[in-house]
Amino acid sequence: GCGICVKKCPFEAINIINLPKDLERNTTHRYGPNSFKLHRLPMPRPGQVLGLVGTNGIGKSTALKILAGKMKPNLGRFDSPPDWEEILVHFRGSDLQNYFTRILEDTMKATIKPQYVDHIPRAIKGQVEQVLRAKDDRSEAEGRDIFDWATTQAELKHLLKRDIRVLSGGELQRFAIAAVAVQVSDVYMFDEPSSYLDVKQRLTAANMIREILESKDGDRRYVLVVEHDLAVLDYLSDYVCVLYGAPGAYGVVTMPFSVRQGINAFLAGFIPTENLRFRDDALSFKVSERAEAGDVKDDVMKQYYYPDMTKTQRREKSQFIMHVDAGSFTDSEIIVLLGENGTGKTTFVRMLAGLLKSDEQVKLEKEGMDYEAAQAGVPDLNVSYKPQKIAPKFEGTVRQLLHKRCRDAYVHPQFISDVMKPLMIENIIDNGVQSLSGGELQRLAVTLALGKPADVYLIDEPSAYLDSEQRINCAKVIKRFIMHSKKTAFVVEHDFIMATYLADRVVVYHGRPGIEATASAPQSLLTGMNQFLKSLQVTFRRDPVNFRPRINKRGSQKDMEQKKNGNYFFYE
Ligand code: ADP
Ligand code: ADP
Ligand code: MG
Ligand code: MG
Repeated sequence: GCGICVKKCPFEAINIINLPKDLERNTTHRYGPNSFKLHRLPMPRPGQVLGLVGTNGIGKSTALKILAGKMKPNLGRFDSPPDWEEILVHFRGSDLQNYFTRILEDTMKATIKPQYVDHIPRAIKGQVEQVLRAKDDRSEAEGRDIFDWATTQAELKHLLKRDIRVLSGGELQRFAIAAVAVQVSDVYMFDEPSSYLDVKQRLTAANMIREILESKDGDRRYVLVVEHDLAVLDYLSDYVCVLYGAPGAYGVVTMPFSVRQGINAFLAGFIPTENLRFRDDALSFKVSERAEAGDVKDDVMKQYYYPDMTKTQRREKSQFIMHVDAGSFTDSEIIVLLGENGTGKTTFVRMLAGLLKSDEQVKLEKEGMDYEAAQAGVPDLNVSYKPQKIAPKFEGTVRQLLHKRCRDAYVHPQFISDVMKPLMIENIIDNGVQSLSGGELQRLAVTLALGKPADVYLIDEPSAYLDSEQRINCAKVIKRFIMHSKKTAFVVEHDFIMATYLADRVVVYHGRPGIEATASAPQSLLTGMNQFLKSLQVTFRRDPVNFRPRINKRGSQKDMEQKKNGNYFFYE
């Protein structure tokens, strides 16, 4: 074990050597006997955005709740909690003493955007506009129309009269971010703001969060963000604290790092300032891995074509029209679908899965022209589909579901080592499917999808609910599986690092969300990304150490240069 847990440590695989010796003295909070323990705290700085990065269950939300004054830290003494006086003494000499003094005296107000936006409708009732207007006291305090700014930025203008109960996940997320941004506060906290958002909305949300610091009193405000999309975290933070440890058992907060150093330390699994390794291997996006996977492509065997297609989706009075440009794909390749929410990515995937027919097909079938109808849609493929929304009805355990859905794969040594081990299915195999957390369900859903024999794998938003480490593991699993099995995958993905890691080619969506959009034919990663990024007006570079894509700060020299030359995306 790692020597910290009281119980037998379930995380023996994580080999932390030379943990800092003063951890016991630096316990900030412990939920109870044999429960999670948080060591140290991140220290926010006025006028700057502090980013927190770490796996699920490592104490990020706990740290936010303590810093917001919503939870009194017990310094590890859950049986005889200290009073505030003692807590302040504990933090004596650090900036946290002053920080907590102000929180205690109520001279400092903290506001949190909660992690689980799905719970919001239970706590807040009313229409979007009504709630936001009631919360908006910044407009008066700053003498400008903050309500207008927030609802424009968060794309809420067309939803103002809508009841909060009927908002979708992405709409709730934007509402929640706006609801925090309109309030006068000293501390602004955003717990996982990018969930459910597309790439464009993630960038807008990041800009909104940064703008909180640019207005009146901005230099006195504190902003903290927990985020698993590392490209987004990188873009919006001024500095970063890493949380490491054993998920569910204990977490340690590091000293602050520069954004680049912090994220690279997290990916490397090594904290340089403490000379401490917390993960056995580094997470990287090495070019050699791409090349290696690319080698397999030498003996391409299969090629599939699909024609120009149209699909009209009608609901009550509104309709959505999607055009698909004819395209082709081969085995041993991954095609990533890039586009805003509501442009028809899921619709296209469901067409590929044979669940929806093109308008042309429907028309020809009505005319009794069955042969022509078959030609007017996607070829008859053997597909395996991981839907975007996963809400299993299965009543048994994970093992029983695996047995039912992929009997051969889940006992196959290669599948176990390539898919189940890295997705950590063994830890949850005897749990009831109904009791799984969001991240656990997602890992199971990906396993089930890959476990079904098929020619084409359709994977809709695999990174939802996964932490940054699981996202990278999951991307590697999909990549290795597709290359080894010589199959094709279509993947819908908004996490930029994951999307660029996975993609051999991309389909780019253009048009107006929810109204009419066109899916391009699959095109090269470079051409497609350049198109996509140009439409978002952002440029990327790569980190020289681990090759992760990094968003250039808007207006920086690199940004301007790359835009001038049309190099929105940097390949190497
Ligand atoms: P993160 O935000 O990094 O995913 P959290 O701070 O939410 O992690 O949780 C850290 C650990 O503390 C988890 O193992 C969680 O189950 C546990 N935990 C959170 N809240 C409580 C609580 N009220 N009582 C007991 N354990 C808790
Ligand atoms: P994406 O996956 O890119 O977010 P979708 O394919 O889910 O987009 O949806 C595209 C548009 O089609 C949305 O405006 C959605 O509301 C609409 N839509 C999807 N399914 C249906 C349906 N069954 N009936 C009517 N409209 C639908
Ligand atoms: Mg959390
Ligand atoms: Mg979708």
